[in-house]
Amino acid sequence: MTNDKILLSPPDVGPLEERYAIAAIRSGWVAPLGPEVDAFESEMARRVGTAHAVATNSGTAALHLGLLALGAGPDQVVVVPTLTFAATANAVVYTGARPFFVDCDPSTGNIDVGLLEETLARLRNEGRRVAAVIPVDMFGRCADYERILPICAEAGVPVLEDAAEALGAARGGRAAGSFGQAGVLSFNGNKMITTSGGGMLLTDDATIADRVRYLATQARRPVPHYEHADIGYNYRLSNVLAAIGRAQLRRLDAMIGRRRDMRELYAKMFAAVPGVHLLGEGDPGENYWLTVIVVDPEEAGWEAKHLAAHLADRQIETRPVWMPMHLQPVHVGVEAVLTGAAERLFATGLTLPSGSALTESHRARVEHAIDDFLTTR
Ligand SMILES: *Cc1c(COP(=O)(O)O)cnc(C)c1O
Repeated sequence: MTNDKILLSPPDVGPLEERYAIAAIRSGWVAPLGPEVDAFESEMARRVGTAHAVATNSGTAALHLGLLALGAGPDQVVVVPTLTFAATANAVVYTGARPFFVDCDPSTGNIDVGLLEETLARLRNEGRRVAAVIPVDMFGRCADYERILPICAEAGVPVLEDAAEALGAARGGRAAGSFGQAGVLSFNGNKMITTSGGGMLLTDDATIADRVRYLATQARRPVPHYEHADIGYNYRLSNVLAAIGRAQLRRLDAMIGRRRDMRELYAKMFAAVPGVHLLGEGDPGENYWLTVIVVDPEEAGWEAKHLAAHLADRQIETRPVWMPMHLQPVHVGVEAVLTGAAERLFATGLTLPSGSALTESHRARVEHAIDDFLTTR
């Protein structure tokens, strides 16, 4: 077991989840919906502080339906940060709208708000229809909503918050997932909590919640004979998986604490290393989802990829930060406003093992391996 591979952010699931899943199975409510889904939704809505929550079978599905509920469709654009996971942009394309990429703030990786403001003004001058802005709370740090929300309100553009990585984070006393017209969480296996696969849409707007719930259940009208007036989707979360989610949610604060411990280790190890800093350091509301170091090769005398190779040799997983969307082959030709910040982070950033399931011995192995690398440089 000492040489098992150390992963970035593996699922952290144990006896409590087992108990909840077994109870759900024994209750007879296996699939699809049931009381565990209802309870998971209301517990999450309470935790995040929204009036409504709709559980889905992925975060991507929640983004897709959130956009549809906001009216996204052909002949419209949706503003998306270029530094994000593919799902944010994919959901836009599913609706028939086109993504429009905006670069990031180099100090946090979150959308560059000045650039967002310029972009919305430009799109308005060009008479373009903007269905939504999707700020992403990158690596578990809320985007700058104090500035984003008024800018979008002024432009008359709704905000769909992609908080897939940010459950448990907060900003200005408000929880991630509660900003904008609606917010989206992911319970994929590598996220803060997992249902093995799942997501949720959170909103204070009952019309949005009802629309998403309806579209997620094949747009079935409330009659016994399967009547449909819209094209729907099979996007709801199963009752057994919701039970796992409820167990995970009970453990969320403890899991955040374990990720914070990993962060503190990295902060200590790299504090005196020239040319290396931790991305987004000092945000009091973050959830520590993934720790990212940024390496200036001139100053450090080494590159992020050298440390990545050293750790890979020792069965320790790292990854570059998300490859920006405007560099993705699938998005060639998509409009973008760029400063180079996302490309620089892609070239110089490295995500380090951060999961709450990492044990003391994993932690010691990571510490030794990095120590070894730094002292031989
Ligand atoms: C994980 C993630 C998603 C998608 O969530 P799934 O549950 O995997 O579909 C969307 N956006 C971002 C930023 C993510 O990290």
